[in-house]
Amino acid sequence: MTFRTLERRVQGQKTSDGDGVKLTRVLTHDLQKRLDPFLMLDAFGSDESKDYMGGFPDHPHRGFETITYMLEGRMRHKDNAGHEGLLCSGGVQWMTAGKGVIHSEMPEQENGRMEGFQLWLNLPSHQKMCSPAYQEFEVHSIPQVITKEDVTVKVIAGEFMDTDGAVQRPSTTPIYLDLHFPTARVNNFELKIPQHLNAFIYVYEGSLTLVEDSSIETIAQGEMAILNNDGDQLCLSSNSKARAIVIAGQPLHEPIAQYGPFVMNTQQELMQAVRDFQQGLF
Ligand code: MN
Repeated sequence: MTFRTLERRVQGQKTSDGDGVKLTRVLTHDLQKRLDPFLMLDAFGSDESKDYMGGFPDHPHRGFETITYMLEGRMRHKDNAGHEGLLCSGGVQWMTAGKGVIHSEMPEQENGRMEGFQLWLNLPSHQKMCSPAYQEFEVHSIPQVITKEDVTVKVIAGEFMDTDGAVQRPSTTPIYLDLHFPTARVNNFELKIPQHLNAFIYVYEGSLTLVEDSSIETIAQGEMAILNNDGDQLCLSSNSKARAIVIAGQPLHEPIAQYGPFVMNTQQELMQAVRDFQQGLF
């Protein structure tokens, strides 16, 4: 057993998307190859309705999956195939865009806090044109484990301590955990992550210590830590309240061609995606 070490810290870029929704793009375009199979991670969080009210009006996707994890707030989504759902605090929507969806993601609140994440997970080339699919999980249907050291672990994808997560994906084998460290005690958290999986953590409250074989690193609130592929064990520690997501997945090692909300393998497939969208074939 060897501990995963810190490769680098990433602060993300403040930007806006949709109709003016303020967010931090934590996993940016330049990290797609390094963090294959993950294409993007956005963190949003605001108490000000002007930062989120515009929402994400109708827009298309093709070729990958979007995973929205709502920490706080309510967001309604609708798509062009008649699918509709309300994502509430603690809930997850796992959308497989496949060959194409057009959908909207709009806040269903006029004040209060809106906070969460949207992760983009690539599909292998042979699944990029699959039929679109949705999986929705409200807060109580996401498996939860409390470790002996009182760390609460929400298992969104993958497996933790013999508990299967809400979602399993065979090609990319994603692990997606949300960790809550309790107050005022030193608590450790350990997770086996096979060495070939690309992995990162993002601390969204408090700070965490990454324990390595011979040193420690502090990861601050709002930082993503990319982990080296040099060990098979993640060890985190905290002596105060902290929350973080841990994400890992099997790289696809395929070419990535992206044009906005379309992610394919070649430029030709991207041009086809644009044509299909313009011709109303989604
Ligand atoms: Mn979308």
